[in-house]
Amino acid sequence: MSRTRSLEAFATAQKFMPGGVNSPVRSFRNVDTTPPFIAKGKGSHIFDIDGNEYIDYVLSWGPLILGHADADVVAAIREQAQYGTSYGAPTELETEIAQKVQTFFPAIEMIRLVSSGTEATMSALRLARGYTGRDKIVKFVGCYHGHSDGLLVKAGSGAATMGVPDSPGIPSEIAADTLTIPYNNPDAVKELFAQYGDEIAAVIVEGVAGNMGCVLPQPGYLPLLRELTQKAGALLIVDEVMSGFRAAAGGACECFDITPDLICLGKVIGGGLPVGAFGGKREVMGKLAPQGPVYQAGTLSGNPLAVTAGLATMNKLSADRFTELAAKTETLCQGLEAAAQEAGVPIIVHRIGSMFTVFFNEHEVTDYDTVATSHLDEFNVYFLAMLEAGVYLAPSQFECGFMSLAHTDEDIRQTLDAARKAFQKVAAFREHKGRK
Ligand SMILES: *Cc1c(COP(=O)(O)O)cnc(C)c1O
Repeated sequence: MSRTRSLEAFATAQKFMPGGVNSPVRSFRNVDTTPPFIAKGKGSHIFDIDGNEYIDYVLSWGPLILGHADADVVAAIREQAQYGTSYGAPTELETEIAQKVQTFFPAIEMIRLVSSGTEATMSALRLARGYTGRDKIVKFVGCYHGHSDGLLVKAGSGAATMGVPDSPGIPSEIAADTLTIPYNNPDAVKELFAQYGDEIAAVIVEGVAGNMGCVLPQPGYLPLLRELTQKAGALLIVDEVMSGFRAAAGGACECFDITPDLICLGKVIGGGLPVGAFGGKREVMGKLAPQGPVYQAGTLSGNPLAVTAGLATMNKLSADRFTELAAKTETLCQGLEAAAQEAGVPIIVHRIGSMFTVFFNEHEVTDYDTVATSHLDEFNVYFLAMLEAGVYLAPSQFECGFMSLAHTDEDIRQTLDAARKAFQKVAAFREHKGRK
């Protein structure tokens, strides 16, 4: 597979943009290669500027649940575009999408539309702080909630730690209000609440963790977070930017029967255009400007073109389609497990709904520290072999794969063919490394 033109394009891009990209993970840096530059996408496939074709399990990092350039979504965008793309004034489309989202997420009694997941979580936290009059927030190591200052923080150890920023440029006073503890650890969160309970504005959690690879909450974990926050007068914010419409139609909240105070959405609700949202209890949302004092605004919030793409996408998502999507994902994951077993490569596959991760690990993974014990070098061998075989996966062990409704049985068959060969390469690599 030649990627000469992509290499040239990447070299040029690096002259004008840091690292040649507008979002770091696109650079393929941590898998020791360079990224294909994409010319177009159709259905489950993307095509690079050298004419190579790939089966796409990244799907723009989750949003494209119908696949690329779905005919109905494209038609809806075209139709809307001729009436203008932004007014900065109310439209009926916004009420329509608010009602539509509520059919999937009944806990969202009122909503505020924004333009990204980062904006959704950042604004939800401001609202939680404004509502409770408290400053501290709790997040979990390995959970990603976008790149706002207070959320770009993880703990250095397993113990409850005052936040230390992950990036230069984040004031330490801001990071200090972020308390970080390991995911899926009931004792850690109980201890934290015993110590700081009355200072905590909110706990923010990925209902299903997707940004350390797909890691499910253990039974009783989310209910424990609900119970502790309620007792302490803190809010529970479930970040469903990834898990919404993916773990299930109604996200992790539906899977694990949780009613949080606030839910954050993004990715699928924009159908491939920039939409994010946060919403929840009427009483809490009522504190948001202009109804209440907590300020939040956006020139392009509720943008008609983006809302149209989101609506056109959600309008095609019936219960049957979610069943179909989950079944396809299950078929793929079972095939991957069988292929790895055949090759003698130990892996752990996690799946919920249409999100999944193959962990190169002999042992079960339940939080960031256990995920970090995975063999990243084996992942790289697998990733590169799959890419060469025309299967486009997220370039990191710490990411999820996604299935779309456009993926066919033939796509899955081809993917598994590629995987059998890729796992053979991993097996040879393991032997070379002396791993049993
Ligand atoms: C992607 C993601 C975000 C950030 O969304 P952006 O649109 O990239 O700003 C926030 N939370 C979770 C769980 C995500 O997966």
